[in-house]
Amino acid sequence: MHGSALLQQRLQLRLQDRAARQLLRQRRQLQSPQQPELQVDGRRLLAFCSNDYLGLANHPAVVAAYARGLEKYGAGSGASHLVAGHSAAHEALEEELAAFTGRSRALLFGSGFMANIGVLTTLLDEGDTVFQDKLNHASLLDGGLFSKARFQRFPHRDLARLDAQLQAAGSEGLRLIVTDGVFSMDGDVAPLESLLALAERYHALLMVDDAHGLGCLGQRGGGVLEAARESGVCVDEDRLPILMGTLGKAFGTLGAFVAGSSDLIETLVQFCRPYIYTTALPAAMAEATRASLRLVETESWRRDRLRQLIQRFRSGATQLGLPIADSPTQIQALILGTPARALLASQQLEAQGLLVTAIRPPTVPPGTARLRISLSAAHSEAQVDRLLQALASLVLPDDEES
Ligand SMILES: *Cc1c(COP(=O)(O)O)cnc(C)c1O
Repeated sequence: MHGSALLQQRLQLRLQDRAARQLLRQRRQLQSPQQPELQVDGRRLLAFCSNDYLGLANHPAVVAAYARGLEKYGAGSGASHLVAGHSAAHEALEEELAAFTGRSRALLFGSGFMANIGVLTTLLDEGDTVFQDKLNHASLLDGGLFSKARFQRFPHRDLARLDAQLQAAGSEGLRLIVTDGVFSMDGDVAPLESLLALAERYHALLMVDDAHGLGCLGQRGGGVLEAARESGVCVDEDRLPILMGTLGKAFGTLGAFVAGSSDLIETLVQFCRPYIYTTALPAAMAEATRASLRLVETESWRRDRLRQLIQRFRSGATQLGLPIADSPTQIQALILGTPARALLASQQLEAQGLLVTAIRPPTVPPGTARLRISLSAAHSEAQVDRLLQALASLVLPDDEES
């Protein structure tokens, strides 16, 4: 068979299979900024599915800093960081992120996906072992798989299994435990204190990806690390050497960073291919993020508000008997089982003017298709009540597959 015919056949089979299992994804078109009231595909919908948890993606101060950055630096950075794309704005943001996270240095990446692939493939070598929670973000799992290390996955939050895996791994090479800080599809928080204790017992290291905790948890928005520190757990750089965070979620802009020791960061600058061989983020974007970092740190009322909305949602959902997962954060999962049920729920909500996308395998494990509801400080109490009312009115068939 000709190459092009073979390719065509393969593409069609994959697409048909995905469609037959009700797993085909569709992109919606926004005609408005990211905010609770969206203009989507020509309709006005109240959305509960963005990661703009603090309402900063369209904040006037962030947008204005972006505009000033554009005036000063122009649209594109024009080169990679090591060639001629590293601006004073990038440098200032890195210093501010290091101070924010209490680390010696921080390094900016174009995206969280690149940061995770980059860190894991740069640090891990043959003879090393990486241990990952099965529900870790795809970029962490891929980073582990792409690296030369042995790859071990443990069931979600199963510390006994991790303990056994660490024990079986022996004492050769680097042993790196990797976890999401807040799990992106379930909203639960990693058991940092226990993970650190295990790491210490087996002379292993811990890396935390706090994409969903930063900005939302901790008095100053320092995420799961700050929350742990508040309850007396030591999470300083010596004890927890690799912290990764993203800027496209609570920060409302784009990009990511890795924070840690000077040697860690300098090694990434010198050897991390997804850092070196890619164009730097626009400097203006770094200026926008500097403005949003200031808001994250100083406007703790956004976190207070988010907490109130989470509480309101959870007590309402519990009263209604909805099957919500046990999550203390802004990510609330309504587990519905089959893709068909999750899709139907999403469609019924949309008919009532609400946008809550269905999350299906392979993003989540088979049998746990869900509505992933994300709350934002930009939502009002009335909007959360509207969501609860709509959820109460869902009419779903019994789950045949499970
Ligand atoms: C979103 C996310 C990433 C990827 O970050 P991007 O900047 O969007 O590429 C990495 N890790 C986790 C846990 C995430 O939720």
